[in-house]
Amino acid sequence: MEITKEHKQWLVDFNLNHPLVIAGPCSAETEEQVLKIAHELKNSDVSIFRAGIWKPRTRPGGFEGVGEIGLKWLQRAKAETGLLMAIEVANAQHVKLALEHDIDVLWIGARTTVNPFAVQEIADALQNTDKIVLIKNPVNPDLSLWIGGVERLYNAGIKKLGVIHRGFSTYEKTKFRNNPEWQIAIDLQNKFPNLPLICDPSHITGKRDMIQEVSQQALDLNYDGLIIETHIDPEKAWSDAAQQVTPATLKQIFIDLKMRKETDENAEWNKEMALQRAYIDELDTKLIEILGKRMKLAEKIGLLKKEKNVAILQNKRWNEILGRMILDGEEKGLTEEFVLKIYKAIHQESIAHQEKIINKN
Ligand code: PEP
Ligand code: MN
Repeated sequence: MEITKEHKQWLVDFNLNHPLVIAGPCSAETEEQVLKIAHELKNSDVSIFRAGIWKPRTRPGGFEGVGEIGLKWLQRAKAETGLLMAIEVANAQHVKLALEHDIDVLWIGARTTVNPFAVQEIADALQNTDKIVLIKNPVNPDLSLWIGGVERLYNAGIKKLGVIHRGFSTYEKTKFRNNPEWQIAIDLQNKFPNLPLICDPSHITGKRDMIQEVSQQALDLNYDGLIIETHIDPEKAWSDAAQQVTPATLKQIFIDLKMRKETDENAEWNKEMALQRAYIDELDTKLIEILGKRMKLAEKIGLLKKEKNVAILQNKRWNEILGRMILDGEEKGLTEEFVLKIYKAIHQESIAHQEKIINKN
């Protein structure tokens, strides 16, 4: 699979000088609610209107979405405001109805991305259409499953692709509704630099007060867009009431966000950047060189241990090294967590080198 610039062209075509914004309610509730919100969002930074039509609920008995009738409301909202319309699809029937009602953007929800059968069914139903399709991360922190979702849509000939990072479930309570685990999204972005990456701070935080902060983090990490749940009367929303903001708050969030550019043209600044990067490159080369030397020493020690048939793992010695490095690290402004991580990795590699030597005849 090769995700090329072609797959990102839909985003470039918006011709924006800011990240893409998708906004609208968690759920379409009434025609009036949909139209009111859409009208408040037109002539703003928002390009795409979102609304859930079928809602996947963790437990039965909650509001499960208005269903097909809501698609008519979205068609009307689109005709009146010019905003593109986005909904969640979870099966072939949803796709069929979305296509019949001229929905522009379809997203695959987190609970669907975990299920390859469902994703394949959606991909088959979308085969070679020119819809924009966004794949949310699966609820569990599994990068392969997320990539798998992208691959199924790619293989179905979808040319307008993107992913939404909405955080991951954890059994333990954290300050987030869904733990962001930024590294997983960054890994995906590094693997597919042309795949638009959109952050969903609403489902990551679960709380409207935290949306600003998480949106800023996403922009600092060079995300291509944000999807933010927006409701005319958030407290009375039929789903996800705690995390929705009003259209006015959404505007304020955008005023307060600091937009980051990918780079700058200024020659002096570029010279200084190049210089600092050259220093970093030099240090990185040295780091690898030193690590290589350290492993060679470990091999020598391995040989000495072999001579006297002494065990590789020497817990006392290892704990001494660790204690000393944590103290040294502290002095240099490195956290204990970081030093521990690095030294565990070094220690493991070192043991592997010694084992190789010892087990060689
Ligand atoms: C939603 O966007 O309203 C939604 C159900 O999201 P997720 O699939 O991320 O839980
Ligand atoms: Mn929601």
